[in-house]
Amino acid sequence: MELKICHLYPEVLNLYGDRGNILCMTRRLEKRGISCSVKSVGIGDEDDLTGYDLFFIGGGQDFEQEVLLNDLGKGKGASIRSAVEDGKTFLCICGGYQMMGHYYQTHEGVRCQFLGAVDLYTVGDKMRMIGNYAFTLGEESGGGCVVGFENHSGRTYLGEGVRSLGTIVKGYGNNGEDKTEGVRFRNLFGSYSHGPILPKNPQLCDHILKTALEYKYGGAELAPLDDRMELLAHDRVLKAYLN
Ligand code: GLN
Repeated sequence: MELKICHLYPEVLNLYGDRGNILCMTRRLEKRGISCSVKSVGIGDEDDLTGYDLFFIGGGQDFEQEVLLNDLGKGKGASIRSAVEDGKTFLCICGGYQMMGHYYQTHEGVRCQFLGAVDLYTVGDKMRMIGNYAFTLGEESGGGCVVGFENHSGRTYLGEGVRSLGTIVKGYGNNGEDKTEGVRFRNLFGSYSHGPILPKNPQLCDHILKTALEYKYGGAELAPLDDRMELLAHDRVLKAYLN
């Protein structure tokens, strides 16, 4: 078995070391003897994304998101939308998550018309939402508690019937109002969590990997790994900041 991973816009969207999620996914695949390749696809690069199994998009500052608009409009946006519609697996963090919605309006009023791949929209505000936070994952995403770090001015609102990724336990999440965090649409996982999110939440990483493997091969069993260190880090954050 093999997974082809596409790291979208790493040169622009890589706040708070979000690329650590790529390292986490590749290590957890390799430890199980599952081969994987990672290709960075940035501004001006190919827009035929049909050969990839799993996509990762990190976070970015407002102006960095504005930089992407032109490239998305040239063809990559349509390819990303098709991949989401086809059920390919995505992990989209913060700015990369906002990009999947209809638009992101910065707190200065600049409206970035984004992909509309998921029925959501985001409006920026002067007051940023910053801090360690925790949320419980929906059962369809494996359940359990996720710890992370958020830093965003955007308030994201999900469309009617659109499922969140989870429910806030402590912190802001999508908008600091409705206790939702992130989005789960088809096989797209969107979250505000930097951190990076996956290393301290191994169960979520494995759930995302299984989703991509099941889509490609019809089924996948992931042997358990020794996650003592990962869970120590997870519980440390929970205890130190979120109790
Ligand atoms: N620029 C967006 C916001 O401020 C996304 C930030 C991020 O990716 N951390 O909401």
